[in-house]
Formats: sequence, structure tokens, C-alpha cells
Amino acid sequence: MVTIAVTSESADEPRIAVSPDTVKKFTALGAKVRIESGAGARSRFSDDAYRAAGAETVTRSEALHGADILLAVRRPSIEDVAALKPGAIVAAMIDPYGDRAALAALAGTGATVFSMEFMPRTTRAQSMDVLSSQANLAGYKAVIDGAAMFGQALPMMMTPAGTVPAAKAFIMGVGVAGLQAIATARRLGAQVTATDVRPATKEQVQSLGAKFIAVEDDEFKQAQTAAGYAKPMSAEYQVKQAELVAQHVKNQDLVVTTALIPGRPAPKLISRAMIESMKPGAVIVDLAAERGGNTELTEPGKTIETPNGVRIFAPLNLAGSIAVNASSLYAKNLLAFLDGTMFDKKEKTLAVNWDDELIKGTLVAKGGQIVHPNLQTQAS
Ligand code: NAD
Repeated sequence: MVTIAVTSESADEPRIAVSPDTVKKFTALGAKVRIESGAGARSRFSDDAYRAAGAETVTRSEALHGADILLAVRRPSIEDVAALKPGAIVAAMIDPYGDRAALAALAGTGATVFSMEFMPRTTRAQSMDVLSSQANLAGYKAVIDGAAMFGQALPMMMTPAGTVPAAKAFIMGVGVAGLQAIATARRLGAQVTATDVRPATKEQVQSLGAKFIAVEDDEFKQAQTAAGYAKPMSAEYQVKQAELVAQHVKNQDLVVTTALIPGRPAPKLISRAMIESMKPGAVIVDLAAERGGNTELTEPGKTIETPNGVRIFAPLNLAGSIAVNASSLYAKNLLAFLDGTMFDKKEKTLAVNWDDELIKGTLVAKGGQIVHPNLQTQAS
């Protein structure tokens, strides 16, 4: 029988890699899920609910010992992986570009490691796309938290006592998180503008009822890679973009920044001078904090207030702050991936399809080596 281990994540990671719902499905596939007792508590999944779904709730070492598969949210420790069966499968958000030495050590355990962040963004893999499932929630929560910090009303209200003006929200970076941030800010009644360097986003922004602003020159027309991501922009473009942003941002009440370029530090889109031009009480929520942030003053993991009364909130794990939803969706992503690529449903055995493009796309380490093409150019 295929055994799947799930353990408690670190103190700063409230999510968990399986839900009672996915445990039920893994059990139906013929697997036995062994969960460290209490591991689901921060996502409101009780041991009772897991047991009712067919899991065993056990100690951490009992969960890990000799397991075929470890499912995790974050990159697991070498000790945990060493406790699994030799060559066991590990699937998690590995942070493939982070801490290379530790990644090499993880590979050195001989485990077969899959990085969920590398899931190809194809139609078939949509249900396995962890970046989308988590970014969507983060985009929502950024607006909710930002609106609470703003401390003023978002919608326009006409009352006998006078008119409350609509707040102005500006979303920078219109990927999955940005689109949800636009939709959420619109629902709350803010007047929303948004910007991106990929031309395809213009129509998406407009279809959500927001106004698109950007430097739409020749470089902008070429800014999207074949994979759908943004390219790093030239210094010349950055100057033009900064002029546009400087004019716009000074009148904004709530700014949500989400701009990322795969494998690189986040582009700096808001300078100190721009922040100094903003109104007291304005709030910036910087979702790019994990990759250094989109503003010059961002302190990842902290909220700072500038002398002119602008707060910059730079959360590192916003999806984790709605852990019930984040865990449920992440668990579904993992289930869809394993179900679609690793199980022989007739025999109820583990049968990894090594030729599958999704397996090839996400496989980071195997047989003691780091094997992913995106990770070959960096020094070990
Ligand atoms: P991301 O998190 O990598 O980046 C967020 C946004 O920041 C992107 O829209 C990007 O263009 C923008 N950005 C980067 N540099 C910028 C700059 N200097 N100024 C302004 N904006 C900048 O993006 P994501 O949310 O992962 O989405 C990336 C792409 O993948 C999109 O095209 C999206 O539609 C696509 N996608 C496809 C699928 C699928 O087909 N299965 C699923 C999810 C996302």
C-alpha cells in the first residue's frame, strides 16, 4: 500500500498539504495517509475530521518513517526526508530558486523531489497550479487587509449629511493576484486603476470595470514571454514607467503591488520620492515582499509608516492568513497532480509517468542530483 506522510509545518506556516476532502480521495486511490497529530489545527482541520476521512493521525516520526510520499507546503527538512523510504517522492512548494546549498543537500538524500511552483501553466494543469490558487487568495486578502488599514470608506456614499468620496485603488501587476485584487476592490466600491507591462492585461483590466494605465510603447508590445510571464524591462522603459507611476500614485488611497518576474528580484516600481508624494493615510500592500518588494521602502514581513503617514504592509504569506481556504485549494492542487501523474488506479500502486510533461516540468531532484533545467546554470 502507498503511504503518504503529512507533518506539521513550521511556526510561520499555518497551511497544511492535505484536507479531509483530499484524504478521502487518496484513500479511494488505495493510499494510506499518515498525518502528524494536530498538523491541521491552524487550518481548522481536526484530527477527528482526518480520521473520519480515512487517515491515521500519529506522531511526526510515525508519519514519516518509511513513507513512499511526503506532501508538504514548504520545503521540508533534510531530517524529515531522510526518514522516508529511500528515493521517496516529495511534493511541496520547494522554493526552487531559494537557498541553493540546502536544495543540493535535499537532493543528496536521494529523494524524488517535485516543486509545485514549476507546474506548467497549461490547460490540463490548471487544477494543479499552486501559484494561481494561492495568488488568487492573496490578491483578495491584500485588498481586505489594505481596506481595513486604510481606515476610511471605500465606496462613494451620498448621504443627507454629505458625500463620502470613493477611495482610489491602484493595482500594479495584473497576474492572478492582481486580477483578484481588482475584482475585490471593485466589489468594495473603490475607483480602480491598474497597470502591467504585458499588453494582454489591458483587456482583462477593462473587463473587470477598472481603468488601465501603462506606457504602451513598442517594448510593451513585446513584454510577454511565450510562457505568459513578464520580461525584465529596459532601463529606458523603467524611466518612462516611473514618470507615469509618479503622476498617478500621489493621488491614490490604496495601492496593491504584485509585480514579479520569474527567477528574479521583484522590480522596484515605487520609489521613496513617490511614497513621499502620497497622502497621509494612504496604504500600500506589497505582495512582492517575498522577492524583495515592489517599493523602495518595503521591509519584507513588516508594516512601516513613513514620516508623511503612508503605511507599507509587506506580508510574506498572505494566503496563509486565510489558511482554511488556502490549505483546501493547495491540497486539491496536490491531489490533482498525484492523481493525474503518479497512480496506477487499477493496481492501486505508485506508478510515476516519467514521460508526462507535468512530471518533467516539476521534477527538481532525483537519484541524488538536482535535475531541473532551470536550475542547471546556477553554481551548486
Ligand atoms: P506573476 O506573479 O509572475 O507576476 C504578476 C504580474 O506582474 C504579471 O502580470 C506581470 O506581467 C507583472 N509585472 C512584471 N513586471 C512588471 C513591471 N515591471 N511592471 C508592471 N507589472 C509587471 O504573474 P502570474 O500571476 O503568475 O501570471 C503570469 C501569467 O501566467 C499570466 O499571463 C497569466 O494569465 C498566466 N497564467 C496562466 C494559467 C494557465 O493557463 N493555466 C494559469 C495561471 C496564470
